Formats: sequence, C-alpha cells, structure tokens
Amino acid sequence: MRLFEGTAWDRPPRCDRCDELEENCQCPPPGKTLTPPAKQTARLALEKRKRGKLVTTIRGLPPEENELPDLLTQLKDACGAGGTLKDDWIELQGDHRPRVRELLARIGYRIRG
Ligand SMILES: [Zn+2]
Repeated sequence: MRLFEGTAWDRPPRCDRCDELEENCQCPPPGKTLTPPAKQTARLALEKRKRGKLVTTIRGLPPEENELPDLLTQLKDACGAGGTLKDDWIELQGDHRPRVRELLARIGYRIRG
C-alpha cells in the first residue's frame, strides 16, 4: 500500500472548473487575456480641461487587454504628476507627452501622437 493511497494526495490534480485532469484541461487561463503591447497603439494627446488646465491623455488601450491601473502608476512615477484612470483612457495632469512617449515605448507600445 502506497503512503498516500486513497487520500487527496493520491489523486492527480484536476481543474477546479471543468474537473478534467490538469493535463487535459482546455479552460482559458484565469483572469483577463492581455494583448502584447507591441500589438497595440497608444494615442497620446494634450487636452484642455476646465479653467484651461492641460492634461495628457493616453487612449487606444482597452482596459480588458491591459493592466491600466499598473500603467497609470508607472506613468505617474515617471512624470511625477497626478493622474486618473477614466473609463478606457488615462489622464495625467499637465503636459507630459515626451516622458509618456518614452515610457510607453520602453514597455513596447506603438505610439501615435
Ligand atoms: Zn479546466
């Protein structure tokens, strides 16, 4: 008799969702499917807000294909500026296009604007 026979340790691992053996499982990986930055084009623009305040906007990166909160944190650090995540774009307070362009290029995004 093997040490773990009949216990949970004896059973080969199965997928929680489809109950197939892990080696046969066809489930998509958990979480969202990210699109590689090199396949996406970020659109940079300078826009005017209330009372003439300038914001740098980054559009064209769908939230379901990108970790936008992480990207926002990196952008804020790189620019030393405040910023917000909107529905499907990022806004940074002030004109930070050169820094933003540099950071996005380093990550691998294609850039327009
Ligand atoms: Zn599965």
